[in-house]
Amino acid sequence: VISKLPQTGTNIFTTMSALAAEHDAINLSQGFPDYFCSPELIELVNSAMMAGHNQYAPMAGLPALREQIAIKTEMLYGAVYNPDTEITVTAGATQAVFTAISAVIHPNDEVIMFEPAYDCYAPAVKLMGGVVKSLELEPPDYRIPWDMVKRLITNKTRMIILNSPHNPTATILSKQDIDELTALVKNQDILILSDEVYEHLVFDGQEHLSMARYPELRDRSLIIASFGKTFHATGWKMGYCLAPANLMQEFRKIHQFLVFSVNTPMQHALAEYLKNEDHYLTLPGFFQQKRDHFRQGLEQTRFKLLPCAGAYFQSVTYDAITDEKDVDFAVRLTKEIGVAAIPVSAFYRKGLDRHVLRFCFAKKQETLDIAVDRLLKV
Ligand code: PMP
Ligand code: GLN
Repeated sequence: VISKLPQTGTNIFTTMSALAAEHDAINLSQGFPDYFCSPELIELVNSAMMAGHNQYAPMAGLPALREQIAIKTEMLYGAVYNPDTEITVTAGATQAVFTAISAVIHPNDEVIMFEPAYDCYAPAVKLMGGVVKSLELEPPDYRIPWDMVKRLITNKTRMIILNSPHNPTATILSKQDIDELTALVKNQDILILSDEVYEHLVFDGQEHLSMARYPELRDRSLIIASFGKTFHATGWKMGYCLAPANLMQEFRKIHQFLVFSVNTPMQHALAEYLKNEDHYLTLPGFFQQKRDHFRQGLEQTRFKLLPCAGAYFQSVTYDAITDEKDVDFAVRLTKEIGVAAIPVSAFYRKGLDRHVLRFCFAKKQETLDIAVDRLLKV
């Protein structure tokens, strides 16, 4: 067969997690918790199954769950989304991203994105015949140069992809970014795909600036969320998309043929679990404690910390240690020191290497402590 994605190999998360397992290393590479998700949530899934909720859910998702998502979105962002027409439950954020891009990108449409970027955006754009126009952002602050974004816009620009809080850089969009973005898209036929899977992981008392908060942006945005990320259960692959009805109508046309509907008992459980807002309002504190503990540990090492405003990733540079390429150093750290990280060059399509490694701190404190002990030897 002629490959549709000839450049695509095994992704870096799979590669590093496998290497970590092979060498019995502490795995701070792929982003997932090493602790138990809520037993209450598991019990709710169990109860839903035992109550007989084991057949197809409605295509757009269980009404009770969409209702709870609407309540949460209004409470957090002051935005009213109609559960019937503007919310769809998906099999994780990855499926939602792919569905959103397939629903609106036509051949030769241009899509602006920023690198480093999570790996699932560009392939979806390419598969639809779209053209990725990306800007490479630089450490330490990875600021978006909006004047350069403006220069990238043509009459073929169809979408801008944003991700805040950001994987892998842990940056968040500021109000100034929002203002620049709003000015940029005004009177333009440009959609926004906003990957907000880390919406609850914003630190130091800052607020998550969801596209949902701003009517001019919200009207053109497909917003993606992930219950796997939010509720420490990445293996569940549950998420959702918010979009205005005209966009959601197109989204659902793809969704119904891609998966039709998603896991029924988990939707029942999540609908119930979301009723207690503490389940998500406590998350910034929970993760900030891990972030601070991990950063304090890393400060004793020869790694240099980059800022971390959100998400559960801490990046470091290592110029005081070696001039190896980030991929080589990540492999050596895993094999020789027993700590696995993600080399951030993997998030740039051209492999830009600024000697940055990303550690995931969604781990038990003891795991982070062992990792720091080992990193002290580097
Ligand atoms: N977007 C970003 C930025 C992510 O880091 C991840 C996840 N791991 C996803 C999307 C995918 O989320 P899910 O596991 O719900 O598909
Ligand atoms: N989002 C996770 C990360 O960035 C990994 C998800 C995956 O393995 N595809 O590490």
